[in-house]
Amino acid sequence: AKAAGRNTMRFFDPEMQAAVSARAALEKELRIALQQQELRLYYQPQVNEHGAIIGAEALVRWQHPRLGLVTPASFIPLAEETHLIHPLGLWVLETACRQLTRWSSVPTRAHLVIAVNVSVRQFRQPDFVEQVCAVLDSSGADPRKLKLELTESLLLDDLEDVVAKMTALRARGISFALDDFGTGYSSLAYLQHLPLDQLKIDQSFVRDLDVHPNDAVIARSIVALARNLGLSVIAEGVETPLQRNLLAGLGCPAYQGYLFSPPLTREAFEIFAEEWEPE
Ligand code: C2E
Ligand code: CA
Ligand code: CA
Ligand code: CA
Repeated sequence: AKAAGRNTMRFFDPEMQAAVSARAALEKELRIALQQQELRLYYQPQVNEHGAIIGAEALVRWQHPRLGLVTPASFIPLAEETHLIHPLGLWVLETACRQLTRWSSVPTRAHLVIAVNVSVRQFRQPDFVEQVCAVLDSSGADPRKLKLELTESLLLDDLEDVVAKMTALRARGISFALDDFGTGYSSLAYLQHLPLDQLKIDQSFVRDLDVHPNDAVIARSIVALARNLGLSVIAEGVETPLQRNLLAGLGCPAYQGYLFSPPLTREAFEIFAEEWEPE
């Protein structure tokens, strides 16, 4: 029905037609990018209350031959609208798991947990659990070092199916974080039923923490909610020492953001982690 809708619009709206062909071109390029291995996985450090690096969020970029480094905001949505999110998501998972296996034999890195973003479309696949297990098997990665980040939009899906998949993967040792928490659809009643390990405070509540008292109230509530549900909590988008200190004061014990580091290539992350000194 969607494709038919696009075709109809093409005849009436030249601007739309330009957009449709630009999209088609981008889709084709992204398909090639996957084959030519133009995707890169970056790693953004996650830090605990003592300043120690506890892990990294894996964030995909596209090393485009002409455009340079393309941010995910300009191709993940497109990938999600096409089937391309499936090979892309699999590549991200495989790359992250291979990285975990490499780090597992380095004493100073063996503790690191990698958080991987999983799009709802990807999670919704009937064989998602089998796919993840196959990647764990082929990479030899320790499932306890793999965290999957899901978003609240998942809660619009068949809850029983969501819970069954999460439960199966948690039985293998994988943990789950709920990303962008506070921005979406969560009803607290649903939250209680999800086998989660962590809430991730969205950066929109962190950004103005020091100037908007309401954001501090929300952040405090999320921390309290996490504690009451027995979950850990991490704040993203932490850019200033003041934000980190306010979050610490609210009881939030883990942070991610430019204050510590932007997302880094594997090589740069390893150097960063080597040279990092907790205050
Ligand atoms: P997200 O999962 O919420 O990721 C956090 C975003 O915030 C990242 O943007 C990160 O670079 C950025 N960020 C980190 N620290 C700070 C900070 O201190 N301040 C600010 N303003 N931003 C900060 P990025 O890498 O451009 O990714 C954007 C979104 O693309 C992600 O949002 C996620 O939804 C999606 N994405 C990225 N990689 C993947 C992937 O491998 N698979 C899927 N399905 N989605 C991905
Ligand atoms: Ca995320
Ligand atoms: Ca997020
Ligand atoms: Ca986000």
